[in-house]
Amino acid sequence: MTKMINNTVISDAYQELNQHFIMLVNDMSALSGLSRLNLRHAHETELLRDAMRALLENSDFERCSVFLLEDEVLRCAGGLDWSDLLGQVEDSSRESASFHIGEGIIGMAAETGHLQHCHDCSREPRFLQLDGPKRSGSLMCVPVLFAGKVLGVVNISHSRNNAFVDTHERLLAVFASFLGQILSNWRYYHQMEAEIQQRTRELESALAEAEELKRRYQHLSIIDELTGIHNRRFFFPEAHAALASAVRHQHPFSILMVDLDHFKQINDQHGHSMGDKVLQVTAALLKGQTREGDIVARFGGEEFVMALPNTDLEGAKLLADRVLSSLRSLAFNASGKSVRVTTSIGLTSLTGLESPDRPDLLESLLRQADEALYHGKTNGRNQSHAYSEIDFG
Ligand code: GH3
Ligand code: MG
Ligand code: MG
Repeated sequence: MTKMINNTVISDAYQELNQHFIMLVNDMSALSGLSRLNLRHAHETELLRDAMRALLENSDFERCSVFLLEDEVLRCAGGLDWSDLLGQVEDSSRESASFHIGEGIIGMAAETGHLQHCHDCSREPRFLQLDGPKRSGSLMCVPVLFAGKVLGVVNISHSRNNAFVDTHERLLAVFASFLGQILSNWRYYHQMEAEIQQRTRELESALAEAEELKRRYQHLSIIDELTGIHNRRFFFPEAHAALASAVRHQHPFSILMVDLDHFKQINDQHGHSMGDKVLQVTAALLKGQTREGDIVARFGGEEFVMALPNTDLEGAKLLADRVLSSLRSLAFNASGKSVRVTTSIGLTSLTGLESPDRPDLLESLLRQADEALYHGKTNGRNQSHAYSEIDFG
């Protein structure tokens, strides 16, 4: 008989131990489910739903909900029960509830920072019945904390009174503490992501602005401010490239140097702004006489240069004559007085015998055009000369 009792006691103890062991494994599974939560979820509610699912799937809890603290109010961020897990339709009306801190058992969990356990809700003064008759059943509310701050409250309920014991409380406390960590990680992750996106947008717009500025300054750096035509900085690389191509293909190429006559006198007699006006009109006139592919630049004060691909000596002489006569026919008005301007032009063209290997060819052509120009200056101005036709004697 004694032996039989002993066997029964041992068997009961074994059963109980086994039961505890199964619960422990379930608890561990619920917690390990949390470690697999996906921080990439776009919405917090999706993360919380997965967390509640991990808890319900590995416990004998009937229902779980999470309330998040927002502007001092606890608002339901989602609820899940066994029927949801089984694919039955969820009652969304329960999700609209909200509590202030200290209000009802949920509010108390947030206020005290401690788990609140209610064994029979129908007899529980802390339980705030929002509508209908007082419901019985068990409820546990545990605050979700991170760094001492309340993020929300997890609620576990069961339709049966006294459904939860100490081990349930312990599981829920550990679950809520992990959830607090995960929730704040999710918030940091998404805040960081939003900040990175914002910084990226700012950086992109700063880059676009810098590009635009660079483009504008590049443009400004190759444009002469007064006349709006290109300057020397633009002229040299462009003319070098055009000349190299002309020599390589044995195409005609000419250079024209244009220097206004006695320009200093215009400044002296009619003022600097009148001089500026003459420079602007001359630049526009030169530009107007050229065709696409020609390179026209202000070379210095009152000196202009033109590089003319596909223009031979005869073509260059014709252009020089056109420029001379157009300028002659211009009359500027200086305080009622008519001011006339003339120019001298020197030009030179490729002979077709130049070697493509001469790196100083452009400089040499510019020197020839300059010499031809000064030949005109010393011979009375208001004229053009081709370098190859001058008898330097
Ligand atoms: P020449 O017929 O021998 O070329 O005589 P010039 O007076 O035209 O030549 P010079 O080199 O003696 O004088 C050039 C003048 O051009 C002097 C300078 O003040 C003037 N000048 C240079 N740049 C500008 C400018 O941007 N605006 C004005 N108004 N004058 C300028
Ligand atoms: Mg001059
Ligand atoms: Mg000059």
